[in-house]
Parts: sequence; structure tokens; C-alpha cells
Amino acid sequence: MKRKSVLSLVSLFIFLLIHFACEPMPSADLILFNGKIVTVDHNFTIADALAISKDKIKAVGTNRKIRRFTGSKTRVIDLKGKTVIPGLIDSHLHPESASFSELDEEIPDVHTIDQLLTWIKGQTMTKEKGKWIIIPKFFSTRLIEMRQPTLAELDSVAPYHPVFLDGSFGGMINSTSMQLSGITYKTDHPGIIRDRNTGLLTGFIMASAFNILKVPQQKTLSYQEKQDALREMLKRYNRYGITSLFIGSGDFESVKMYRDMSDKKILTARIYQNILLQTDRKITKESVAEKLKKYDNKTGYGDEWVRIGSLKVILDGGILTGTAYLTELWGEKAADIFGIEDPAYRGVINYSREELLAIVSVANEFNWSFTAHATGSGSVDLLLDVFNEVNQSKSIKEKRFSIIHGNFFSKDAIKLMRELGVYANMQPAWFYKDADAMESILGKERIRTFHPYKSMLDAGVMINGGSDHMVKWDANTSINPYNPFLAMWTMVTRKTEHGSVIGPSEAITREQALKIYTINNAYASFEESIKGSIEPGKLADMAILTDDILNCPVDKIKDIESVLTILGGKIIYSSTTEF
Ligand SMILES: [Zn+2]
Repeated sequence: MKRKSVLSLVSLFIFLLIHFACEPMPSADLILFNGKIVTVDHNFTIADALAISKDKIKAVGTNRKIRRFTGSKTRVIDLKGKTVIPGLIDSHLHPESASFSELDEEIPDVHTIDQLLTWIKGQTMTKEKGKWIIIPKFFSTRLIEMRQPTLAELDSVAPYHPVFLDGSFGGMINSTSMQLSGITYKTDHPGIIRDRNTGLLTGFIMASAFNILKVPQQKTLSYQEKQDALREMLKRYNRYGITSLFIGSGDFESVKMYRDMSDKKILTARIYQNILLQTDRKITKESVAEKLKKYDNKTGYGDEWVRIGSLKVILDGGILTGTAYLTELWGEKAADIFGIEDPAYRGVINYSREELLAIVSVANEFNWSFTAHATGSGSVDLLLDVFNEVNQSKSIKEKRFSIIHGNFFSKDAIKLMRELGVYANMQPAWFYKDADAMESILGKERIRTFHPYKSMLDAGVMINGGSDHMVKWDANTSINPYNPFLAMWTMVTRKTEHGSVIGPSEAITREQALKIYTINNAYASFEESIKGSIEPGKLADMAILTDDILNCPVDKIKDIESVLTILGGKIIYSSTTEF
């Protein structure tokens, strides 16, 4: 290079240097500095500060770099060392049912038969005789005793009040319930369970008999009341740094409602709404195609506030009621707990392989992302087998198919998920609440495949984290707990509610757990380029925490809350006047 051109290059460089040093940077609306910004970017970079303009992240970096974005109108928050993480995403929950579940009365949080009976007795003191005492989503395996209360126990505390413990797939009623509902010794119904030896009614009924019960009609809420309840529920989520939700199940009506809330600017979480496929009695490719043709939109349609999620079916029952479909028998202990008579019982499956194949292949043809509620190893294997076959004719990988719950994943299942790019949408809260019961029912060997987080991550399977929150409002006592910090703590420690540690070799790191609740979930909704990490250009969704999730004593992780939650650059929750 000639000397002259080198000189001119140098002078250009000096000019640019002076220019940028003097030119003030366009100012930001909000600056957070002097903190520990856990960006969850590709290198898991930790920064000091960040700048937000409108609803997006403008810059992330050192205090010095970010300070340059301060203008006369910039709001500046000194984090004083506090930790900031990307807004948390819950990959599976049911905010609508949860939002009105305690509008009328609180649902109790009971852990023992004694607490349960004491609570029922308390209810009889305040409720008029003949008024129903109902507990929704009551799972007896979550009691220390792991059994239903007996009919005699229920009658002893509630002789004049009808009691119904509703466990979704089955439930317990007392004698007054039977009288009021016209159920007698003579009632012939397969859903009414009798004692094997005496033939007497046990008080246990299957879901098929629920409609015989003369329970009072649920109060119907107006559209406005529904939105109000939902707004309150979303605010409770915001308190835990949650800024995006995957609605586990629903229809286009729910999409409309969330869209309406978005238009009114009262939505405090971004929505990814799964659509439950209502199937006919006879399922063929044609009948499924007929249905899907009527749908206006599919996965991904919408904007960053409300988007259509996956097409979903419910493949089996659940682990709490002995209705998850397993590869092996449920076994003797389960037979006692759940009143199973059939020695070859493996659980409940809602679709045959042919039916599932018809559904999944048509969904794939129509370019839906497909997902299914599958809670046992048997349904996981069946689903993956069908995914594999569908993939032969048209690739499913780019559509990010997923398995909701899953729970039990064999080595082969994990391998196939990796190959097909199938995501595991898991609920650590179930591990926390139910791993002890599962170990006791299925034994030490079979529990090895229960929530194998590390094996899955090591194999390269994408894990998503969600709560399956259904009823109650409190983050930690709800069914299921929606506190994402409790969930992350569970994945890191493998500790359960009973205090045991189950399968410690499947524990994952704090960083991995945090990814599961942020960037991994952003991938699951095809939104990894706009959220899930704190990077320039992404949506300004984040939470300032009460504690440092990466370095606090491990058992403190579950106690973390958000101090300040920011969604699209706006503060939507604050527990402090400090900032
Ligand atoms: Zn669910």
C-alpha cells in the first residue's frame, strides 16, 4: 500500500474516533446499571448494565458503555448489584381455570388425612347443612398417607354435608353426597366403585360417574368478570418474573379474548395459545383434514403479544390417578391405591396408533406444530413411534413437535427425540410434588426414567419448563405450584416436597435450569430471535431478582421473587419503592 493511502486511512480513522466520541448516543428510555445482568445469550455473558428504548433492548454491556445512552428524559435505575434475568416463560399452564378457582372460596392446601378431615369439619361449622363441600383437583397421592380418606372417615366429619373430593379422573364422595345424588346400593353404574369382598359402595367414583352428582352449577362469569379475574392472575405470575405464557389447552375463543386484552393494553404476559383438537368418534385422515380446513390460522399466527401455539390432543390420563399409560403394568401397589381390578392394567389411552397417525400426519401436512398430553412411558413411546413414521413422508423437525409432560423417558425415547427434534415440555413441579409417590408405587428401578433432565440435555434434547398451574392462586401451594424458582430449584437439587433427593445424577446446573425457563421456551414458540435472552434488538422483558440465582445458597433459589418485572420496556410489577 502506498504511503499516501495509509495516511488517508489513518486520518479517516482519527476522524471517526473523534466523531463518535463527541456525538451523543441517541438516548434510551430506561437504563439499568450497576447490576449483574444474566443475559442468557449464547455465551451466557454476564453484563453490568443495559439500555431500553421503547419496547426493545437497545444495548447491553459495561456501566461505561451503557451510561452513554443517558439523556435528559432517561429513567436510570441503579441496581446496586442486583441480578437481572430475561423475563421467565412458563411453557404450560391454565390461567383461565386458575383465575376464578378461588373467587368464591379458598381451596385448602392439605398434606395429611388429618388436615383434610379437620378442614372438612371446619367447613361444616360455617356452611349450612346440605351445602356442598368440594375440593377440585384433589389428588390423594399427594397426601403423606397416599390414600383416599375412607367413606367412614368422611362421614364422621361431615354427617350432614355432601362432600366431593374431585381428582379429575376419579373422586371420593361421602354418604350425604350419595343420598342427595340418588346413589344407592342398587345403583348400577360402572363408574361407581364397590368393595371387592363385600360389594358395598366405597365412596370412590370414576370420572364417568361425576355427572350423576347433584353438585351445584358453577357460577358463570360475564366476559368482563373473566377478563378481570385473568388480569389478576397474570399479575400474580408477574410477581415471579413471568412475562410469557403457553396456554396449555384452549380454542380460538381464548385466542380472541387474549387478543382483546392485548388491544386494550391490559395484557401483562405474552400468550402462546395451544389449540385442543376436538376429535370425532371415528377418526380418519379425512375427518381431521375437514376440521383443520375450518381453522383460519395455525401455529405462529399472531404477533409478539398473542400467538397461536401447537395443535394438541390428550393422549392418556395422569400419574396422580393411575391413568397415565405406561409401558409396563402399574402393579400391585397402584392397584390398592387407585382401586385397579385388572391385573394387566397399564393405564388409559385415548387414541389407537392408527387414529394418532391420521391426526399427526394431517397436522404435519397442514404445517401445524403438533403436541400431545402424554404422561406415561407407554404414551411417550407410542407418540414418538407415530412422529417417526410421519417424519418419513414429511419432515417434522422444523415444526418443533413436542411432548407435554412425558414424565418417563427411556434411553431409546431420548434418542428418538433428539433425532426428530421433538421438545420435552416438562413440569418440575410434578417432580417436586409426586416423585416420592411414584417411587413408592413403581419402585426404585422404574423411577430412574422419571424426569431425566440431565440425560436429556446431554443427549441434546430441548427441555421446556412449565408449571401446569390449574387451580388456586398461591405460587407455591397451587395445583400445580407455578413458582418458576421452585421449579428451577427442583431441577438443580432433585429435592421433593417430602425432603428426599431422587435420582441426584439427573440434576442439572443453575444455568441450564434458567435456560429452560427462558431461551428454551422461546425456541418452543419459534420466538428465540425476539425473546428469551437479554440481547440488543430483543423485546425488553426481564426481571430484577431478590437474590442472585447463580450464586445464592442453593436452597435459597426457591425463595427468589422478582423485585421489578419489566415487559416490553414497561414496569408491570414492583415490590419496592427503592427504584
Ligand atoms: Zn395442563
